[in-house]
Amino acid sequence: MPDHLPVVVVGAGIAGLTLSLCLARAGVRVTVIDRAPELREVGAGLQLSPNASSILFHLGLGSALDATGVRPEAVTIRDGASGRLILRMPLGEAMVERYGAPYIVIHRADLQGTLLAAVEQEPRVTLHLGVDITSIGEDEGGVAVEGREAGEPVRFAGCVLVGADGVRSMVRETVIGGGPAVYTGRTAWRATFEAEGFFAQSFRHNETGLWLGRHAHLVHYAIDAGREINLVAAIDDAWNDDGWDVPGDPAQVQAAFEDWPEPVRKLVAMPDNWRKWALCEAPRNTPWTKGRTVLIGDAVHGMPPFVAQGAAMAIEDARVLANVLAAGFGDDIEERLVEFAEGRKARTDKVAAAARRNGFVYHLGGAPAKARNLGMRLLGAERLFNNMDWIYGWRPVEG
Ligand SMILES: Cc1cc2nc3c(=O)[nH]c(=O)nc-3n(C[C@H](O)[C@H](O)[C@H](O)COP(=O)(O)OP(=O)(O)OC[C@H]3O[C@@H](n4cnc5c(N)ncnc54)[C@H](O)[C@@H]3O)c2cc1C
Repeated sequence: MPDHLPVVVVGAGIAGLTLSLCLARAGVRVTVIDRAPELREVGAGLQLSPNASSILFHLGLGSALDATGVRPEAVTIRDGASGRLILRMPLGEAMVERYGAPYIVIHRADLQGTLLAAVEQEPRVTLHLGVDITSIGEDEGGVAVEGREAGEPVRFAGCVLVGADGVRSMVRETVIGGGPAVYTGRTAWRATFEAEGFFAQSFRHNETGLWLGRHAHLVHYAIDAGREINLVAAIDDAWNDDGWDVPGDPAQVQAAFEDWPEPVRKLVAMPDNWRKWALCEAPRNTPWTKGRTVLIGDAVHGMPPFVAQGAAMAIEDARVLANVLAAGFGDDIEERLVEFAEGRKARTDKVAAAARRNGFVYHLGGAPAKARNLGMRLLGAERLFNNMDWIYGWRPVEG
């Protein structure tokens, strides 16, 4: 079998770059292809919980992540109707003590840039940007991706194909036979603004804030080493368009929060530029593999961001798959990919279900919201963390 060929990875996002780095470090050659002509700034902030940060620290990226990311001291959860504090959960050192790795908030572009810089140091990885893929095929000789790069026809042969091309995955739809992305009925509005001066008036700067209310919730935290504040507002909506980077009308997001407490109104009034992102999921029960093709990341389990685990699951997938591929590409590879998929599916299904549950609970109003707030207060920070241990405490079996 063609184990002299590289692994071909479609998508140089969080999953694809993490996988490429892990494979290169394990001595495996990789060809990574992305349709974007450059890996420019897309998305906004991401929260990296210890299950993900531990993998990245293990890859030696800790100081780079700490240089641009922030370790928030706590997350405060507040009620969007009354403004009252529901719960404050310590993060910072408490996370490191509990899980042996930090909770970091970071701009997606800084995370992608950190991964890219590390990948570029690896001679075993070849990166092709601006590739328009026209066909993907598989035969006994392996896999082959054809397309055009800078107007010229290109062909990339490999021993295994990894679809890491995000929630609207072409590999899922054309090779695996999964369907199109499914809109969740919610839009994420994302914006950043300069932190200086703002938080001194209202909140503690180094805390992540979560406001829960009827039909919407708002998350804010510092990124860019504390220089900027990232806002994400998830709003029930019917708008469904493609892309991370669609401009949104500030008046529309301000209107969605006009009845909320003053600190929220002040926050959403700060940015001049909002970007909209229709929240989509990968179709449930998408097959993960077909022959020598395997999906990872949002391509197979794109989920709502309400447990902040999409990127974390992509990073976990990459780490585990790298171990599987580093063991060789012999005749049993298809079987090993299926085993990989079964193991990962069990976990990512459970995480996606938790995200959907949070999405429901976060947007309650009236009496159910009061019951939710009381329940959270009674549970307390310690028991809420106990409930998160299965997510944050996960570690890969090192290959
Ligand atoms: C509002 C919001 C907040 C979020 N917050 C968090 C959070 O706090 N924590 C967290 O863990 N996750 C969070 N997520 C989820 C996280 O952003 C995603 O789960 C993560 O980016 C998925 O990584 P990926 O590599 O699978 O896909 P992506 O990062 O989407 O990368 C896919 C790559 O594939 C490329 N591509 C696409 N199509 C093609 C093609 N046809 N040919 C070649 N290349 C292609 C794209 O250009 C891109 O580079 C959030 C998501 C949203 C929308």
